[in-house]
Amino acid sequence: MEELAKNFIYDFIDKDLADHPEMKVHTRFPPEPNGYLHIGHCKALCVDFGTAKKYGGLCNLRMDDTNPAKEDTEYVDAIKEDIHWLGFDWDDRFFYGSDYFETDYELACDLIKKELAYVCELSAEEFRDPKYCGDLTHPAVSPYRDRPIEESLDLFERMKNGEFPEGKYTLRAKIDLASGNFCMRDPVIYRIKYVEHHRQGTKWCIFPMYDFAHPIQDALEHVTHSLCSLEYEIHRPLYNWVRDNVNIPGNEVGFPRQIEFARLNITYTVLSKRFLRTLVETGVVDGWDDPRMPTLCGLRRRGYTASSILDFISRTGVAKSDSLVDIRQLEACLRDELNQTAPRRIAIEKPIKVVIDTYPEGKTEYFEVSNNPNDENAGTRKLPFTKELYIDESDFAEVPPPKFFRMRQDGEVRLMGAYIVKCESIEKNADGSVKAIHCTADLETGNGMPQDGRKVKGTIHWLSADYAKDATLHLYNNLTTLENPSDKPDDKDYTDFINPESLIVVKGAKIEPALADAAPGEQFQFVRFGYFCKDSKNEGVFNRIVPLKDSFGK
Ligand code: ATP
Ligand code: MG
Repeated sequence: MEELAKNFIYDFIDKDLADHPEMKVHTRFPPEPNGYLHIGHCKALCVDFGTAKKYGGLCNLRMDDTNPAKEDTEYVDAIKEDIHWLGFDWDDRFFYGSDYFETDYELACDLIKKELAYVCELSAEEFRDPKYCGDLTHPAVSPYRDRPIEESLDLFERMKNGEFPEGKYTLRAKIDLASGNFCMRDPVIYRIKYVEHHRQGTKWCIFPMYDFAHPIQDALEHVTHSLCSLEYEIHRPLYNWVRDNVNIPGNEVGFPRQIEFARLNITYTVLSKRFLRTLVETGVVDGWDDPRMPTLCGLRRRGYTASSILDFISRTGVAKSDSLVDIRQLEACLRDELNQTAPRRIAIEKPIKVVIDTYPEGKTEYFEVSNNPNDENAGTRKLPFTKELYIDESDFAEVPPPKFFRMRQDGEVRLMGAYIVKCESIEKNADGSVKAIHCTADLETGNGMPQDGRKVKGTIHWLSADYAKDATLHLYNNLTTLENPSDKPDDKDYTDFINPESLIVVKGAKIEPALADAAPGEQFQFVRFGYFCKDSKNEGVFNRIVPLKDSFGK
C-alpha cells in the first residue's frame, strides 16, 4: 500500500521510541462485528496496520464483541474478507474481546477488593436525574459508594450468577464524582444484560462496558499504541485509569497509550453502520454490497480497486481535527488508476441507428483499434463494421447548437477508428422520433485522413448493429443528498435524504461483442462514457464506477 505521509501519530511514537528504544510497536484494529466495514474503517485500517508496518511492528485484528447486541458471525467473516482484500494481514493474531470475559471479571473483582469499584443500585432513571448525576457545577452522588468490599463482591458475583433482573445493579469504578470530565464520575463498568452472545451463548449475563474492556484487551495483547478516532479523546483519562489500576504484567509503565485521530468524513456519504444497516433492512438498497453503499464490499462490487481506495486514504492524510473530504477525490483516484490500466471498450447508452447507404449489404470488415492508448502492451482488437450501425443519441442533433461537430444534417463526422461519414437524411417514425440516420461514407480513405485535406472536427463512437450485444447499464449517483452529513437537522433522519436518482437503470444499451465474456468485477473504460465493470450479481448488467470526466473544481 501507499505509505501514509508523516503525521502526528508518528511524531508521538518517535518520541516514545526515543524514551523506550527496546519497545516493539504494536497496534490493533478493533471492529465491532455488528455490520460490514465501510470506507471510514479503511482509514482506521491504514492507520493501525500502516503504523505497525512503518515501525516493523505488529497489528492485531480484534473483534470488539463485548456488547452482545446485534453481533453476528456473518459480520466477522465479512470483516476478515474485506481486510484481506485491502491487502492487510494479522497473521495468527486474531482475537475476540469476548475471549477475555473471564479475565475482565477477575480484574473487576480486584478493583472491588482495592476499593476502586462498588456495586451501585441506582436505576437507569435515577442515573439521569440531576439529583444523582449532578451537572457542571454539582458533583454526582451515589448513596452506594461506600458499600463495604465484601458486600460488593457478593452482589457482583450474584449479578454474574443471574440472580437479579436487568438494570437492578451496576458495577461502578470509584474515581471522582466531582470530575469535570463526566466519563470519570464513577462510570459504570459492568451491567446486567440477558442477551445471548454470538460466541459465549448464555454463559454471561453481565457484560463489561467498552471503556473498561478495551484498555484491558489492549494491555493483555501488549498493544503499545491504541489508535482510535477522535470521539474517544474524552474517554482517554478513563482508559489510562483502567490501565493503571488493573495490573497486567509485561507492559511498560504508561502503556498501552491511546492516540486519537480524526475520522474520515466524505461529502454525500453517511459512514455509520447503524444507518447502513437500516438501508439494508428496509430494502432501500440491495444488500450490504449494493454498489451505492460506502461499504468496502459495495465499493468492490461497484468496481473500485483496493489500490484506488488506499491511494485515496493516503491522499487525505491523518489529522487531529475533523474535516470533510470531497467524494470526487475518491472518484479521481479511481480514474487516475484505471486511465492507465483499464482496457477500452465501446458501449452505447442510447442507441440510434445509422445506415451507410453507400456501403454494401452483408459485408463485414474489421478495424483494428487500440485497447489502451496509455499502455503499449495492451494490444489491439478488431471491431466489425457493417452497413447498419449504432451511435449514441447524444452524438446526434437534428437542430445542432453552435459548435456541434458530431452527427448533424449535411455534416461530416469521423466514426472512431473507421470511416468519415456524412449525414444525408433523417428517417422518422410515425411519432416523429428518429428511426434511422442515413449516411454516405468516404470509403476511399479508410480510417486515414481525407485525401483532399479537408478537416473533419468531430469523432464519435459506434457499433455494428449486426454484432453488438445487449446490456443493461447501472449508472450511480450519490446515495444521499446531504452534502455534509453532519448538517443533518436533529428532527430529521438520514433516510429523509436518500437520493431518488442514486441508481439509474439504462435498459437496451449496446456493447461491443468482446464484452460478452467479461469476468464479473473486471474494469473497463467505455470510451467517452465512463469506467464500468460487470456486475457480479445480475447477469448482463454493467456498473458505472465513475463517469469519465470529473466536474471537480468547476
Ligand atoms: P460506526 O459509527 O460506523 O458504527 P464504529 O466506530 O462504531 O463505526 P467500529 O467497528 O467500532 O465502528 O470501528 C472500528 C474502528 O474503526 C474504530 O477504531 C473506529 O474508530 C474506526 N472508525 C470507524 N469509522 C471511522 C471513520 N469514519 N474514520 C476513521 N476511523 C473510523
Ligand atoms: Mg464503535
